[in-house]
Amino acid sequence: MKTVAFCTLGCRLNFAETSTISRFFIERGFKVVPFSQKADFYVLNSCSVTSNANRKGRNAVARAHSLNPDAIIIVTGCYAQLKPDEVAALPGVKYVFGVNNKAEIERIIDSAENSQEVAISTTPHNDMKTFVPAFSKGDRTRAFLKVQDGCDYFCAYCTIPYARGRSRNPSIAECVEQVKSLAADGMKEVIISGVNIGDFGKTTGENFLQLLKAVAAVDGIERFRIGSIEPNLLTDEIIEYVATEPKMMPHFHIPLQSGCDELLKLIGRRYDTALYRHKIELVKKLIPDAFIGIDLIVGVNGETPEMFEKTVDFVNSLDISFIHQFQYSEREGTRALKFTPRVTAKQKQERANVIKSICERKHSDFVASRLGSVHEVLFESAKKGGMMFGYTDNYIRVAVPYDKELINRICPVTLTKVVDDDVVEAEILK
Ligand code: SF4
Repeated sequence: MKTVAFCTLGCRLNFAETSTISRFFIERGFKVVPFSQKADFYVLNSCSVTSNANRKGRNAVARAHSLNPDAIIIVTGCYAQLKPDEVAALPGVKYVFGVNNKAEIERIIDSAENSQEVAISTTPHNDMKTFVPAFSKGDRTRAFLKVQDGCDYFCAYCTIPYARGRSRNPSIAECVEQVKSLAADGMKEVIISGVNIGDFGKTTGENFLQLLKAVAAVDGIERFRIGSIEPNLLTDEIIEYVATEPKMMPHFHIPLQSGCDELLKLIGRRYDTALYRHKIELVKKLIPDAFIGIDLIVGVNGETPEMFEKTVDFVNSLDISFIHQFQYSEREGTRALKFTPRVTAKQKQERANVIKSICERKHSDFVASRLGSVHEVLFESAKKGGMMFGYTDNYIRVAVPYDKELINRICPVTLTKVVDDDVVEAEILK
């Protein structure tokens, strides 16, 4: 039996796509082994969000090549799309491809052992118009479902539109069929994912709210979470729907990037701080215990100390629960390369430290504010130190003593005590 090992870097979408690619290999009789083991095939689903992500991709290829110099190494994902020649030159790489559909994988499997040359098969971003479905099943309690791909926004610092192409989506009917099949597989929770999910419907004349209503009507799936959604596309109607539909979890991930209007405009974001504040305040008014995570880019070219101070003040003033921050890294082909002033590595680190401490405080305050309250938790299968884990509806990580009977069940608990890393111990309510 031939073996294949997978390594995924980057976002949830990549994980969903790797999961789908792995199913194609399994259908062809492959056995999946860990990436740390010798395998006949290695598949790297790469990321290119920062230069560090590219470096991690190169390291993963080097690791695979050292484990088995004769292995067929296949690289897909954003790094492969954006820098195919650079990736193809890495020792051991045999295939570099962009669109990871079933036909492409089967063609690679069939031709791999006879092919001597490194094959590159990437697609110019303007020609990437086909939607390739994908989902991952995680630990078989919750699934990430890709409902949209690509982005037409071209923010000044971002290469994703060049790597993933134009915004596109399947029809609502196709998404509903996928959700039904996840329900038939025993999944309880679906995370609705994409690159710019609020843009859903652009290619089918539908919209994201219609999608939410259609999937919520599927029997079997009890919880839905909305992945990251742009503030200008998170309509008040969507927030009102989440507030009233029990299957929609009170959990939002809304990219902010900067709390300074001048910088938001410069980097090409499509909202200002007033609109952003309105969205946060509406969520909190309608769903007071909702979890709200935000994204911030730190140290983008053009960000002056005064602009950063505005961001700090703005973020401090928001009732949010978590900050995902990433330090800006210059990306070839993007408009931000020309922006000044350039932020030094030391300044970036200092700014990142400030945001990190705000995040820690906001998250601790959010978790502490829920102690003593009752929430529903979907329990997962992993066991660690005699405990098992799960997330509340509003995305608080909960630990209870391990009980096999609880796996993939949704149970009410009382949150009792914060332990390490803001995990909360809880008592199960019978
Ligand atoms: S919205 Fe902006 S940051 Fe997000 S993927 Fe599109 S271009 Fe990149």
